[in-house]
Amino acid sequence: MNIDGKLTAQTLRDKLAIEVAEFKSRYKIQPSLTVIIVGDDPASHIYVKNKVKQTQEIGMISNEIKLPIETTENHLLSLLEQLNNDDSVHGILVQLPLPKHIDESAIISAINPDKDVDGFHAMNSGRLFNGEPGALVPCTPQGCVLLAKQHLGKDLSGLHAVVIGRSNIVGKPVAMLLLQENCTVTITHSKTKNLPELCKQADILVAAVGIAKLVKADWVKEGATVIDVGINRITTNEGATKLVGDVDYVEAFEKCGAITPVPGGVGPMTIACLLKNTLAAAKNSLQSR
Ligand code: NDP
Repeated sequence: MNIDGKLTAQTLRDKLAIEVAEFKSRYKIQPSLTVIIVGDDPASHIYVKNKVKQTQEIGMISNEIKLPIETTENHLLSLLEQLNNDDSVHGILVQLPLPKHIDESAIISAINPDKDVDGFHAMNSGRLFNGEPGALVPCTPQGCVLLAKQHLGKDLSGLHAVVIGRSNIVGKPVAMLLLQENCTVTITHSKTKNLPELCKQADILVAAVGIAKLVKADWVKEGATVIDVGINRITTNEGATKLVGDVDYVEAFEKCGAITPVPGGVGPMTIACLLKNTLAAAKNSLQSR
C-alpha cells in the first residue's frame, strides 16, 4: 500500500489553518515565520518559495529576507539578534546550506531556541533527547512519524524500528521520536555490519541515507511499514532525470505492508511540520508576555 504524504500533509495544513484562525481570534496575534535565504541556489529558492506560499495559505505571516552570497557571518548574526528580539517574529528559519564562508553551526546556535522552527538548535535537540515537552522538533523526522502512524495507528508501542542514517537533521531525531513512541529502536549507519539482516527485522524501516535504491526487497520484512526519506536525482536509461528514494520502491512495494513514495511521501510532510512548529512557537511566545 502507498502512504500518501501529499494527502496527509494537506490534512495537517487544513487542521493547522483552523487552529491559526482560532489563535488569531483569541489572542489577536497572527503567527509569523521569517525565512532567511543567503545566495542564489535555485533549489533553495524553490524550497523557500513553497514555504512562503504554504505559510500564507494557512493564515500566518511570512517574511522572506533574501541576502546576497557575499553576506558576512557577522551581518547574519546581527540580523538574527534583531529577529530574536522582535516579539512579532515567532519562527525563524535560516535556509541551509549556507555559503562556505559562513559557519552553519554558529548561525544555528544564534537563533533563539524558542523561535528555532527547524529544531536544529542544541537546546531543542537536548529537549528532544530528554523527552521534555516544548521542544521544537526537526520537521522531516516529525513527518516520518506522522506517516508511520497514518498507516499503523496511534500506538507504535513495542514495534521494532530500524533507522538507516544518523544525521542530526533526520536519522538521530527520528530515532528519538520513535523511542518516545515506545518503539525498540536500532540506529544504523555506514559502518553498520549486516545492514540487510538488521533491516529485515524492522516493523518500521526508516531510510535516510542519500543512496538511490539502496534498500532492496530482500532487506524488507513481510508487511513492514517503510518510510523513505531519501531524495536522489538519477538519470534514466532514456536520459531523463528523475527523483527516487533510498528504497527500491517497485521491489519493496510487493513485500512491505506500506511504503512512502518519492516524490510525494515524506517531502510534503516536511513543510507541513514547519508550519506546525511555527504555530507552536507562537503559542510558546504567550508564556513570555
Ligand atoms: P547525511 O548525508 O547527513 O547522512 C546520511 C547518513 O546515511 C549518515 O548517517 C551515513 O552514515 C549513512 N550512510 C551513508 N551510506 C550508508 C550505507 N551504505 N549504509 C548505511 N548507512 C549509510 O544525509 P541526511 O540525513 O541529511 O539526508 C538523508 C537523505 O534524506 C538524503 O537523500 C536527503 O536528500 C534526504 N532528505 C530529505 C528530506 C525531505 O524533506 N524529504 C529532508 C532532509 C533530507 P555515517 O554517519 O556513518 O556517515
